[in-house]
Amino acid sequence: MIRNVVVVGGGTAGWMTATYLNKTFGDRVSVTVVESPRVPTIGVGEATFSTVRHFFQYLGLDEPDWMPSCGAAYKTAIRFENWRGVGSVFYHPFERFRTVDGYDLADWWLGLGGDPESLHDECLLVPQLCEERRAPRRSDGRLFAAGLQGSSFQEAEQRAQFPYAYHFDATQLAQFLTTFGTERGVQHVLADVAEVVQDERGWISHLVTAEHGEIHGDLFVDCTGFRGLLINQTLGEKFTSFEDMLPNNRAVALRVPRDMATVGINPYTTATAMEAGWIWTIPLYGRIGTGYVYSDKYCSPEEAEATLRAFAAPDQPDLVANHIRMRIGRNERSWVNNCVAIGLSSGFVEPLESTGIFFIQNGIEQLVRHFPDENWSPALPEAYNQQVGRVIDGVREFLVLHYRAAARNDTRYWQDAKTRVLPPGMAERLDGWRSLLPDENTIYPHFHGFEAYSWRVMLLGLGGHPTTPRPVLGHLDPAPARQELARLREDAQQLVKELPSCHEYLQQLNS
Ligand SMILES: Cc1cc2nc3c(=O)[nH]c(=O)nc-3n(C[C@H](O)[C@H](O)[C@H](O)COP(=O)(O)OP(=O)(O)OC[C@H]3O[C@@H](n4cnc5c(N)ncnc54)[C@H](O)[C@@H]3O)c2cc1C
Repeated sequence: MIRNVVVVGGGTAGWMTATYLNKTFGDRVSVTVVESPRVPTIGVGEATFSTVRHFFQYLGLDEPDWMPSCGAAYKTAIRFENWRGVGSVFYHPFERFRTVDGYDLADWWLGLGGDPESLHDECLLVPQLCEERRAPRRSDGRLFAAGLQGSSFQEAEQRAQFPYAYHFDATQLAQFLTTFGTERGVQHVLADVAEVVQDERGWISHLVTAEHGEIHGDLFVDCTGFRGLLINQTLGEKFTSFEDMLPNNRAVALRVPRDMATVGINPYTTATAMEAGWIWTIPLYGRIGTGYVYSDKYCSPEEAEATLRAFAAPDQPDLVANHIRMRIGRNERSWVNNCVAIGLSSGFVEPLESTGIFFIQNGIEQLVRHFPDENWSPALPEAYNQQVGRVIDGVREFLVLHYRAAARNDTRYWQDAKTRVLPPGMAERLDGWRSLLPDENTIYPHFHGFEAYSWRVMLLGLGGHPTTPRPVLGHLDPAPARQELARLREDAQQLVKELPSCHEYLQQLNS
């Protein structure tokens, strides 16, 4: 039996892994986190994907239990600014399109000659709530869409989609999980791993630390961030860069204090396209997290910092900027011998669409599903590596779409984005989407978190990859679709009246 798991690294990945494994195995498996007192965590990673709530639910944590400790707020969408051209706006919400006569509203809207500026306004409900800064829950705690007839949220409780995710302070979350985990039996060792010792087969036998001597284990989880201390530096696993497809390799971040009582809270992430990349704006309860993601081929760190300061905090020159070099790509295998890499050590695509923590959650869930015994069947790591690799590759393709299909074309950065290398199979898929919007049969073919509706929203919102309406709609009566579009607008107006503002709801949660 595998009795002893050692997690190296105490960032978001390390503590999410440790607490999840502890919850799954209880005292049947001992879990130890070895965390350097010297090497800081990455210090960013504030927006999430809607499946993250399953992580908290699994640990038995309700929103009031953890949100106030982590400065957490709600995220119902990403608002894309300037991607079609300077001044343009559209939203990518956690919301499926409603369906009429077997075709969704995106198809109908296109068939009815929809204006690209109005997609999110006419076919989706959440963006209208975003514009009014409404909370995704009613004052009594019920989900905002509870009771809405005919809405696409009827299945909102199902695993595949949920109408919101969270913004939170990742450092505070790691601290929260440290307390949560250690109270439930996770061992916490503050020590620098100076050496990783392998046996004659090349498997990891133990770690050597100055502070606590040797630390032995059966299974080692590498959560050491971009350095990949175990998986890359020790085991030599090949890391494949995605920079030929996704060139952003740097970021600079700021933490900007905000008096939310005065300015309120947007229930969404904003991604603003800039001349050589894009800026994230993430409202937490008490501050804004912001950062410029860019490629050093097009912009220097000094220029990036100056751009970010001017954009986000022109009157706060004392804020300390965090410059980060990003390793974009993934290990060929994230599980090698008795080592599994989770988090930045496994793979990372840039933060657009906030999938870093989603990759961590997926890595942990898959580790439990494929957890080995003393026979170490090679089928388990093989299946694990295939699933984890596909998830990252699928998100890579989704992000490549963001740049390839963006109509913005005013700088060399955006012009070059139209001619970069595409992931395998994507050129054919893009071609097909010129005549038919993406659907579940024509998007990246393996699970990667994003459903077909997300690909539709992005393709239509970005505006640089035209597509034609589905011909069959020309033979069908559009009246029911028009009625549904009208009903959707009425539902939105009604909800705007009924729902508290995001700030009001969070204030109540934090009181
Ligand atoms: C610019 C940027 C923006 C991001 N934005 C988002 C986002 O909005 N949403 C999202 O989901 N994700 C985001 N991410 C990803 C997210 O930040 C990470 O996935 C997440 O924080 C996990 O990091 P980690 O724990 O793998 O690594 P780190 O935070 O780097 O932690 C590494 C740990 O390893 C320890 N360590 C290192 N060396 C040793 C050693 N020798 N001995 C012992 N311990 C050691 C360190 O002390 C530290 O505890 C972003 C990432 C970047 C770079």
